[in-house]
Amino acid sequence: MRDMAVLPIRLFGDPVLREKGRPVTEFDAALDRLVEDMVETMYAARGAGLAAPQVGVLKRMFVYDIGDGEGVHVVCNPELSDYAGEWTYEEGCLSLPGVYVEVERPMEVTCRFQDERGDTHEVRAEELLGRVFQHETDHCDGIWFVDRAEKSKRRAALRELRRRFADGTTQWLPDPDRPRADHEEAAL
Ligand code: ZN
Repeated sequence: MRDMAVLPIRLFGDPVLREKGRPVTEFDAALDRLVEDMVETMYAARGAGLAAPQVGVLKRMFVYDIGDGEGVHVVCNPELSDYAGEWTYEEGCLSLPGVYVEVERPMEVTCRFQDERGDTHEVRAEELLGRVFQHETDHCDGIWFVDRAEKSKRRAALRELRRRFADGTTQWLPDPDRPRADHEEAAL
C-alpha cells in the first residue's frame, strides 16, 4: 500500500500561487492520490482548507475540513454564485503564514462543484464554510485573501510577509508533530 505524503506548501514568493488552475477533467487514481496527499498535508499544517495550487498543482480543486465533525470534503471545479450578506472575519492562509487580516466578504454563497468521482453537487454555505469556499476558489484563480482586504491592511500584510521570508524561502513542509501554538487559528 502506498503511504500518504505530506507535500511542501508553496509560500507567497512562489509565482505558481498567482496562476489560474485548469479544470479537473480526469477523475482517476492520480486524482485520488493527489487528494490523499493534500488531506495529509492540510491536517499536518492544521489548516481548515487547502487548494491544489498551494502544493504547486495548477488544478481547480481543493479539500477542506472545517472541524464540524463532517470530516474532509473534496471540491473540484468550484463555481460560486448567489452571494448574499456581508461578514467580516479574520482570515489566515497556509501560503501566507503568520498574518491574519480582517476581510469582509459575502456571508453566504452557493458552490456548485464535482466531487472526486465527478458527481455534481450544489451546496449553500454560510459563515465559515462560505468563507472556505470563497478563499479556496480564489486560490484556484490566483487570488489571495489579502487582495480582498482594505488597501492599508493588504500593504501591511505583504510588508510583514516580505520581512518574514526575506531569505527567499518559497515553500514549507508542515510537521504534524510540532507543538500547537497559543491561540493558533486554522488557516485556509
Ligand atoms: Zn489560502
